[in-house]
Parts: sequence; structure tokens; C-alpha cells
Amino acid sequence: MRIANVAGRTVLAHSQKPIDVFEASGGRFGPSPSEVFARWAEFCAWADAEYGTDEVVLEPEWLRDEKLGAPSPHPRQVFAIGLNYAKHAQESGYELPTTPVVFTKFPSCIVGPRYELSLPQGNVDWEVELVVVIGAHAHNIDEDQGWAVVAGLTVGQDLSERILQRSGPAPQFGLAKSYPGFGPTGPILVTPDEFADPDAVEVSCRLGEEILQHDWTSGMVFGVAALVSWLSRITPLFPGDLIFTGTPSGIGMSRTPPRFLKVGDELISRVEGIGEIRQRIVGSYAAPAPAPPRRTAAAEAGGA
Ligand code: ZN
Repeated sequence: MRIANVAGRTVLAHSQKPIDVFEASGGRFGPSPSEVFARWAEFCAWADAEYGTDEVVLEPEWLRDEKLGAPSPHPRQVFAIGLNYAKHAQESGYELPTTPVVFTKFPSCIVGPRYELSLPQGNVDWEVELVVVIGAHAHNIDEDQGWAVVAGLTVGQDLSERILQRSGPAPQFGLAKSYPGFGPTGPILVTPDEFADPDAVEVSCRLGEEILQHDWTSGMVFGVAALVSWLSRITPLFPGDLIFTGTPSGIGMSRTPPRFLKVGDELISRVEGIGEIRQRIVGSYAAPAPAPPRRTAAAEAGGA
């Protein structure tokens, strides 16, 4: 199944015309995406019974014209995974992790697939990622059940401001990756059964015609089921929660010379089988510059 968020309403997105879920189900499901994720298994059973034998149209034309929102616009939790591809860990100067490296993007940064971005002061970098949307209340899930609690997959950018990220005595992943619009997602959500192999999905991003990142999710250190299981053993997962699963190599910070987004760029991020999100960089603004680290009395004295 393939669904989109059109102006806040869930639509089925597998055919030449969008199908409004609330209307088609006689008010049983929707209209809001959050409501649909809360009853995901029931919703899937209905959609499968009604539309399961329809021919699937990939990337139908109407998707380009509609006002698309994020497939899960109001997640309670947004997890993101660091250093989850070997070459990216290497380009960042780290060893391969032996447990998932987890941080958050604050939910206020989650936007739709065509969000036009203004850049805060600093060095704003790209990170294309496969994004998992959770479709159940999930706690203490075994890895072999990991995929069973996934509603579907979408495309995301884990946009990151590298100066704030690296300021202070320890990295500031959460804040530096949560400026307004730093979590574009979309254009649609695709259920795992629609992929030939949901553990081997092609991910890429480009500026114009120049490919910046390109890899397959089969190269992830921790696959989707392992990430879901790991996270669910620590904190409950809720319907609509997002997991940004990590970025392949090719980020701007690790290039020689380093390269970052600038006004006028259009960043195009793609996952095969789902589609593209496009971020035009339309302006910039002066966010407060990070203050230099404050040395505590203990640090001055050589203590902790
Ligand atoms: Zn990332």
C-alpha cells in the first residue's frame, strides 16, 4: 500500500487519482494521518480488501501538483541513527559502532517533501536517509518481529548544521539537526511488502545532476528490524514515530574542501520504490551563533 498526506488528509496513492481515505471508508478511517497510524493494522486490512488487487502506478503525476505534507506529520518521537554505513563512519573518522548510535531530531523540524528551506547561520549539510514510520505500540520487540511493527518507509533528509553540532565539549546532534525544516520527509509512505527486498533499498541524493550520495540500505550496520528491536527494548515506540536510519557516505563536511548548502541550491533526495523529496534553498537568516565553551572552575583546576 502507498499513502500520502494531502493537505492534512490521508489518501491512497497507488493509482492515477488520489483516493481520500475518510470518504472512501465512509468515515471509518482518517482523515488525519495520525489517526490512521493509531489503527494501522485495521486500516491495512480495510485497504487491502478494497484495493489490494489494484494495479500500482509508481509516482503518479498528481503527486507533483498536490500540497503534500509529511506522511507522519506529528510523530511523538523522532529517532535518528548515526554512523550506520561503514564508509560514512570512516569518512567521519569513527570506528564502526557495536551498538546503534542514537540521537533525536525534535519533532518540530518534521516537514513535507517540498519544504523550501531557509538556512540558519553556519554550515548546513545534507544526509539522505531511509525513514521508518512505526505502525504499532511496540515495546520489547524481538528482531525477528521488527518489521511487523513498521507501517512503512519514506524518504528523509537529516539536515544538519555542523558548527553547532560540533560546538562545546560533546556533540550537539539533537539541536543542530532540528532547525525549522531540517526534517523533510515524503513524498509518500510505502508499506514494506511493496519492496522486492525491504532490506536492500537504493538511496541517493543530488544537487542538480551531481550525485552526492548513493548506496543501498543492505549496507547498513544495523538494519531496520535490528534498530526497531534495539530502540523498543529501551523506550516504547508509538504509532507514527519516525526512525531516520542513518546516512551513506558523501556528506559535505567530509569533502575536500568541505561543501555545504547555499541559497539557490535544490537538494533532491530519492529512495527507489518511494520517490523524491526536493528542498529548494530560498534564503538564509541569522540564528544566534553558538557561544564558545564556558570553562568551569573544576575544568580550570584540571578536574572533571
Ligand atoms: Zn543522519
